[in-house]
This record gives sequence, C-alpha cells and structure tokens, in this order.
Amino acid sequence: MEECIFCKIANKAIPAKVVYESENVTAFRDINPQAPVHILVVPKKHYESMNDLDDILLAGELLNAVKETAKKLGIQEYRTVINTGKSAGQEVFHLHIHILAGRDMKWPPG
Ligand code: 5GP
Ligand code: ZN
Repeated sequence: MEECIFCKIANKAIPAKVVYESENVTAFRDINPQAPVHILVVPKKHYESMNDLDDILLAGELLNAVKETAKKLGIQEYRTVINTGKSAGQEVFHLHIHILAGRDMKWPPG
C-alpha cells in the first residue's frame, strides 16, 4: 500500500533499523520503544491486521522470524504482542508482531 509506513520500511523506501530479514518478513526496531528491546516483525506484503492474514505459510514465517530475531539479539525471555483493531491498541494498520524484552513485564496487561 502506497501510503503505509510499514510497507515503505519493508520496501526500504524509508529507513529503519532492520535486525532480521527473511524472504517475506522484515524485523526492525520500534521508533518509540516500550522496553529496552522493542522489535516489530512485519510481513513485506500489506495485510491490514491479523484478521486479513490468509497465508498459513506466511504465518509460520512470521513466527519463525520472531524466534530467529530473538536468537540473533541473544534474548531468551520476551513478550510478543499482536494488537488487532483500535480498541486493542493497533495504531499502524499493517500487521506486525511486537517483541518486547529487557525489563519485567506485568501480567495481565492493561
Ligand atoms: P501498534 O500500536 O499499531 O500495535 O504499534 C505500532 C508501533 O509502530 C508503535 O509501537 C510505534 O512506536 C511504531 N511505529 C510507528 N511509526 C513508526 C516508524 O515510522 N518507524 C518505526 N520503526 N516504528 C514506528
Ligand atoms: Zn503496509
């Protein structure tokens, strides 16, 4: 999608601190980190949210990218979050998985 910020990052049209990449997935540092480590894992193809993800292989590639990113960054304990829809906290409508690490996390989340 032309105006989508994460499409632009995935296409390298605008810069981001990329930490991991596979054929269909990019992982980069969040611009406004909520933990010492805060990574966003996104499909290179535009999907508005989890509700639109219709590709099981890509779903696997996304989860595998989470694991590989954590491994690459040397983090063994982390939280993953997928916000789906406004009330769930989604602000960027290009599917992404948050990886948060480096501090104690509360459960249940707010
Ligand atoms: P959401 O609230 O949609 O689950 O998460 C969106 C995340 O994208 C936020 O944590 C926000 O800081 C991050 N973000 C928004 N715009 C940019 C950007 O241009 N670059 C990067 N690296 N992260 C961004
Ligand atoms: Zn997009």
